[in-house]
Amino acid sequence: MSLAAVYAHLDSHEAEDLDLLKKFVAQPSVSARNMGVKECTELLRSMLTDLGCSTVEIFPTPTQPLVFGELKSKHKNAKTVLFYGHYDTQPPDPEDEWLTPPFEPTIKDGRLYGLGTADNKGQLLAHVLAVRSWLAATGDVPVNVKFIFDGEEESGSPSLPGFVREHKDLLRADFVFNSDGPMNAGDFPEIKLGSRGDLSFEVELTTATHQNHSKTGQLIPNPAIELCRLVASMIDENGHVLIPHFYDDVVPPTEYERKTIDELEFDPDVLCRIYGTKRLEKNDKQSYYRQLMFSPTLTINGMGGGYTGPGHKTCVPRNAFVRFDVRLVLNMDPEKVAAQIAKFVHEFDPEIVVRFEANPMQPSRTSAELPVCQAVIGAVRSVYPKAVIHASSGGSTPGYVWTDIMKMPVLLVPYGNADQTNHSPNEKLRLDCYYNGRKVSAAVIDAVGKMSE
Ligand SMILES: [Zn+2]
Repeated sequence: MSLAAVYAHLDSHEAEDLDLLKKFVAQPSVSARNMGVKECTELLRSMLTDLGCSTVEIFPTPTQPLVFGELKSKHKNAKTVLFYGHYDTQPPDPEDEWLTPPFEPTIKDGRLYGLGTADNKGQLLAHVLAVRSWLAATGDVPVNVKFIFDGEEESGSPSLPGFVREHKDLLRADFVFNSDGPMNAGDFPEIKLGSRGDLSFEVELTTATHQNHSKTGQLIPNPAIELCRLVASMIDENGHVLIPHFYDDVVPPTEYERKTIDELEFDPDVLCRIYGTKRLEKNDKQSYYRQLMFSPTLTINGMGGGYTGPGHKTCVPRNAFVRFDVRLVLNMDPEKVAAQIAKFVHEFDPEIVVRFEANPMQPSRTSAELPVCQAVIGAVRSVYPKAVIHASSGGSTPGYVWTDIMKMPVLLVPYGNADQTNHSPNEKLRLDCYYNGRKVSAAVIDAVGKMSE
């Protein structure tokens, strides 16, 4: 009954909520250029104060500030949700490709055009407005609510991990809920529960002080051939990595996780078209998604050495290099993997130099089987019945900030339309996605609230 009243309140406030989003989008907040960021935090402060938050604080960081808000439920044993969102945007460039000005939100074809409409201002506001309607329609919210709004997600959130480490008590919650990105082409969200980590490195070999005539072939060492032999010894023809202990810490998917794969779309022809390639290395649904979500990769990103200009030059290179990245899955430690790689390369040839990037990304994953995740998944499906679970995304996001530093589950549920074109000119949020997003947040609050009844 309560949720129906909250939905009714949301339905009768669409016009007002659209105006609020327009105001939010009209306030620039380009983190990379420090444009309007401070003013935007003040706007958020007033929104959270109007909402009735007992605490609202803007936390400066060495880079851009974070905005925090807290609102307590009247229920004694209420669970706590931490809503994470980001109020900053990408730069509007190239500005002349915008059909309407990026900071003048404009409605066209049932969509609100403007920079940050979908990424992430509309999705962030959906949480705030859901709480607002809970309070207005029922006089309370059945969960304790915390908000943490990032001011530099678009710049890689450099200060977030340090801030989280220093404010664990402030941010403590039963789970983190984040809405960002688009739904899929079928117009329903993929509930994302994790991401792979990433470790980039380079190997380089120099075998002479200068490039030599190729008459010296097989007489002097050739660094390019030496690195080809190294690469061939690192990975076999099936893509299996041969570095000792590389797979030791990999956790296989649970039965539940394997079942979530069965619900996903898989069409090799469509995927080949998307990738612009003729064939996939994994040709059935289970092995494709298991590789994407649950297995690490070792990938050559680029290689070079010797003469690479037009025509031919008969030479022996003095130097060659190969650049790689490793996508890490749950439980793999970037430092440990780096040590395995360095040992393998140096045993192959001690003269090969290995350089690792300074800040590798940790993998992170939340179990969909946790009761709180099941409650959230049920709530999302009450609005979007076709919503599917992605146990992990193939790419890398800093989810470890929550799962590793805070030991909290984190769920990402995109509210945006598939054609939102974030990070591009003419970004837009479909109005029904915005309005429904508020309902998903309201349903999540309801479902998690019921866990403590
Ligand atoms: Zn973005």
